[in-house]
Amino acid sequence: MKQKRIELFLFIDALGWKIVNDHKFLEDLLPYRKKIMMQFGYSSSAIPTILSGKTPAEHGHLGLFRFAPDCSPFKTFSKFAWLFKPAGFWNRGRVRHHLSKLLKKLYGFTGYFQLYRMPIWKLKYVDYCEKQDLFVRNGMAPIANLYDTLSAKNVDFHISDWHLTDAENYQAAEQAIEQGKNFLFVYTASLDGVLHDKIMDPAAIARKLDEIQEQIRHLYRTAEEYGEEVHFTVFSDHGMTPLTGTADIMRDVAECGLVFGKDYGACFDSTMARFYYLSGKAEEVLTALMKKYPGHFLTQEEEIRYGIYRADRAFGDGIFLLDAGIQIAPSDMGDKPLNGMHGFVPEEEHSHAAILSNTAFPDRIEKVADYFNFMIERAGAL
Ligand SMILES: [Zn+2]
Repeated sequence: MKQKRIELFLFIDALGWKIVNDHKFLEDLLPYRKKIMMQFGYSSSAIPTILSGKTPAEHGHLGLFRFAPDCSPFKTFSKFAWLFKPAGFWNRGRVRHHLSKLLKKLYGFTGYFQLYRMPIWKLKYVDYCEKQDLFVRNGMAPIANLYDTLSAKNVDFHISDWHLTDAENYQAAEQAIEQGKNFLFVYTASLDGVLHDKIMDPAAIARKLDEIQEQIRHLYRTAEEYGEEVHFTVFSDHGMTPLTGTADIMRDVAECGLVFGKDYGACFDSTMARFYYLSGKAEEVLTALMKKYPGHFLTQEEEIRYGIYRADRAFGDGIFLLDAGIQIAPSDMGDKPLNGMHGFVPEEEHSHAAILSNTAFPDRIEKVADYFNFMIERAGAL
């Protein structure tokens, strides 16, 4: 017997509004479409926002790392920093990847964990926000996530396993439909990886989008077989901005005369430097130093507008955001810049996210944080 209705939500990491339009992505199948204000930050802030409807200020996830010596889980490990020499070897991508896997196991982290380029000596000063698997029951406790909320409403749902590949997740979704599930949240992340690398290569992007369109059409057909009515909605978290330049902020800060851990703390994400002022002179010195870079310190008004203002300054006392296209390199995230990056000012044309659907959706959906309530409303109507 067919379901009366199937609600299908497909998340595509980095499917920005610009690319959707440049490539006329699924215009026939999903004619209802809208530009969405991205969630300030990276996927590490957008995913918990999508899964809970809360802003980073509320759920506490902005950059993966934050300066917090008192609650660093890595204190003991960091004592062995002297073992990790020469730095060149331990900074290699593959070595870092294995080291990350080892630490993840050692600490029992169930969330997405990568050390990236964070120096080992610095680990004792930082906390990591994604220790838990955000997608599962109580994954964001005490905040209720999508899993908790749908369970409480007795919805017969399927949520992707983010560890799987996109192909596996499409397949798992089709199986879930065949098993009678009528609410699906499907997670896919491979477009993000392609765009970080190929943002300047329209043919490569077109190839990847063709592949995704094929996967979507297949999934859609399956849903139609099992549901009298199918509501199919695709949404994203941000776009991708091509690289236009780099800033060696880390070196300048290291040489400015302030002592890390005594005068200041800092996290260097790909597009922003988040400073923590520990001594009286830190703010003045760092503010003066950053004047030479194309970017600005976020005002309190901007932090509030972007959903990242916290009175406890957990994300940094001063957040310096580079102008769109300029990346911090090296940063805690990598040695070299990527061809494309996100995490710039949300109003920039490459930044915007997108929502696309085969059915009309409420006009009040304007930003990434609005997806959650929309999904819950639709689940409630099943
Ligand atoms: Zn990305």
